Amino acid sequence: MAIQTDIIIIGAGVIGLSTAYHLARQNNTLRAHSKLRIIILEKEKFHGAGSTAQCTGGIRHQFSNPVNIQLTKISYPHFLRFTADMKYPIYFRRRGYLFVSAGHTQWQELQKMQEQLKQLDIPSQLLTPEQIHTAYPFVLTSDLLGGSYCPLDAYADPYGVMEGYYRQCRKLGVQVLCNTEVTGIKVKNNRISGVLCRPTNRPNSTSTEPDMINTPVVINTAGPHLHLLARMAGLELPASPYRRQVYVCAPMPSVPANIPLLVDLDTGFYVHAEKNGVLLLGGTDRNIAPGLETVVDRGRLTDFIEMAINRVPALEDAQITRIYTGIRSLTPDGLGILGETEVSGFYCAGAFGGNGFMHAPAIGLITACLVLGEQPPLDPAPLSPNRFNNATIAEKALF
Ligand SMILES: Cc1cc2nc3c(=O)[nH]c(=O)nc-3n(C[C@H](O)[C@H](O)[C@H](O)COP(=O)(O)OP(=O)(O)OC[C@H]3O[C@@H](n4cnc5c(N)ncnc54)[C@H](O)[C@@H]3O)c2cc1C
Repeated sequence: MAIQTDIIIIGAGVIGLSTAYHLARQNNTLRAHSKLRIIILEKEKFHGAGSTAQCTGGIRHQFSNPVNIQLTKISYPHFLRFTADMKYPIYFRRRGYLFVSAGHTQWQELQKMQEQLKQLDIPSQLLTPEQIHTAYPFVLTSDLLGGSYCPLDAYADPYGVMEGYYRQCRKLGVQVLCNTEVTGIKVKNNRISGVLCRPTNRPNSTSTEPDMINTPVVINTAGPHLHLLARMAGLELPASPYRRQVYVCAPMPSVPANIPLLVDLDTGFYVHAEKNGVLLLGGTDRNIAPGLETVVDRGRLTDFIEMAINRVPALEDAQITRIYTGIRSLTPDGLGILGETEVSGFYCAGAFGGNGFMHAPAIGLITACLVLGEQPPLDPAPLSPNRFNNATIAEKALF
């Protein structure tokens, strides 16, 4: 038997949950008399088991594209208030990000990025190799042209943010159906009419008929599967999934726990210290082929160690305790996808690559405004799912 609802959200990751939270909250504030029925469908056993579970929790203002800087500006106050508002700890820590480069092209990009940041009133500065050496003696600076530092950049716990949104969603009456995979999207006269889904926890079920949920609005927040769900609605979106490998290392006194997140923009190598001093390293796999494969590729270890030691020589003695992978969805211009598609009532919010966690508060808020017909806090045109036939301004500060 088909059921009816107002809004279906596909995927209970940090973006789907933020979107549901903002929709329910704004609707309750603006139209308390007409409660929206919102259902999130999640194929896994638990919410938050997708990319969000692998995220390292970085939050930065340092982007080359102003739309990404604006998304951080909108999200940042949400992180600052999160524990008080959502009643869930997120261990927000302001440690800064430090980008460094030895290459002329990337160094010029860092200089241009500083101009953008200044125009948007973000406190940040260029550092000489000498200044970097004095402040962070573990960084090899002899070949560097310089670095870019923003003290506002930070970390927070992705699990806490995801769980905080989940609990508030439940309080606001959002239904989260786990073990429920969307297998089809129904479109009639170029408008959304419903979704087809099936339970994933009953593989031997004799029923072959998928369940139908009628709805005029579907929001695709399926993370690395975003393009596959869009295809179910007849759309080809150029978002591709890429595997990222993370190397977890035991604490080392020479790389202290209070360092900024260091990024070598030339190789993509990054080092991120957790609050207990455990080091998360990675970022040297920018050039891999797209795919949803999550098996660790040990063949990349030698190259990775070389790039790591070339920037932080002390890592020669690092003890790798674990290697894990996660998937990020990326577009050709490195910007996320946010907005209504050519199919009326079908919205997409995802493909934010390595920024989906830090921008989740803004993405959820803007998507909620678009669905409810309210003015969003930012013109999302540069993120439109329909932008790909036109020239776009690419994001350059990716790693
Ligand atoms: C190693 C790594 C490090 C990262 N570090 C950072 C960082 O420091 N800062 C940052 O901002 N971002 C970071 N990211 C990116 C960030 O994790 C993602 O952008 C973000 O988690 C995306 O959230 P999401 O809700 O779109 O996707 P997900 O968390 O993947 O959620 C999508 C959900 O959709 C579900 N789904 C898919 N298909 C279906 C279907 N057919 N039916 C029902 N459900 C479906 C999935 O099971 C999943 O739960 C990192 C990513 C990786 C891999």
